[in-house]
Amino acid sequence: MYDLIIIGAGPAGVSAGIYASRQKLNILILSKDLGGQVAKKAVDIENYPGFEKISGPDLVDLYKKQLLANELEVSIEEVMSIKKDGHFFVTTKSGKVFESVAVIATSGAKSKLINVPGEGEFSGKGVSYCSLCDGPVFKNKAVAVIGGGNNGFESALFLSNYVKSVTILEYGDKVNADAENQELVAHNKNIKVITNAKVLRIEGKVFVNAIFYQDRVSEKEVKLDVAGVFVEIGYSPATAFLGDLVELNDKQEIITSAETLETKTLGLFSAGDCNVSRYKQIVMASGQGALAALSAYQYIKRNKASL
Ligand SMILES: Cc1cc2nc3c(=O)[nH]c(=O)nc-3n(C[C@H](O)[C@H](O)[C@H](O)COP(=O)(O)OP(=O)(O)OC[C@H]3O[C@@H](n4cnc5c(N)ncnc54)[C@H](O)[C@@H]3O)c2cc1C
Repeated sequence: MYDLIIIGAGPAGVSAGIYASRQKLNILILSKDLGGQVAKKAVDIENYPGFEKISGPDLVDLYKKQLLANELEVSIEEVMSIKKDGHFFVTTKSGKVFESVAVIATSGAKSKLINVPGEGEFSGKGVSYCSLCDGPVFKNKAVAVIGGGNNGFESALFLSNYVKSVTILEYGDKVNADAENQELVAHNKNIKVITNAKVLRIEGKVFVNAIFYQDRVSEKEVKLDVAGVFVEIGYSPATAFLGDLVELNDKQEIITSAETLETKTLGLFSAGDCNVSRYKQIVMASGQGALAALSAYQYIKRNKASL
């Protein structure tokens, strides 16, 4: 029986673990891996305070050291479901059931893929899923943004601070970004919007040098010479295993109290990219992990004896 189970060991889970261990809680971290999206980061991280530049794997090594220093270990397990009956009962794929007073879900999210030839080959070599992270690398170059929703438009606006030109490619016959973003883009000479664009493939040598799309009206194939392709068609949060213990928005992100990060189920907290949040970044996931841990500590202190 644990005081706290943390699900996920990306920035939010690691930060939650560090903060919870300093409250002398008895903690179990269950995760499919250590590092989450950070472990998969091919280009250096340049926007995390304290590090002018650090690679994803180097940051994960520091996570490992800090977890050890706080006497924390990550049990590599995939959580399949959770039940609450006074305490929480967390079931993993290997069939084990773990019991705790409180739970923090920090299971993150994955960017949706466009699934065209060249996407996988050039991922981290011109194909990016995070303009805030990788935008500055494309200084003075031409780039394409796939997706005409708010994510795509906001990425294009951010990228236009650095790059020579941005072309937004939207599959539908109109864009979905809100009116304010549309107006900002319309007034930005570096950004062009193309609707009815079905992306066909991404090409390059070592790095991306072109994206091809079909104009769905004329059915003609069009080539754009670009050094970067930003895929901004949304995220898939890992929240299904929480069942009806949490309330989700239409993107399947967990809705929490802003003050405590507690979900609709008392004692179940959530932090990081799996939550409703406009910007998915390491610094924000880490901050939320700390807040969720301190909130969980208050819950455990109040309820442990009576549950
Ligand atoms: C290519 C790329 C580059 C990026 N670059 C930057 C950058 O430069 N700067 C920046 O600030 N941000 C960057 N980001 C975004 C940043 O990585 C995320 O915002 C951050 O990792 C979110 O942290 P998290 O802990 O909420 O989730 P994640 O990092 O997604 O971690 C979730 C964890 O939960 C585990 N998990 C999921 N489901 C289960 C389950 N059922 N059972 C057990 N474990 C589970 C996963 O295995 C993982 O360990 C980048 C993202 C990507 C993909």
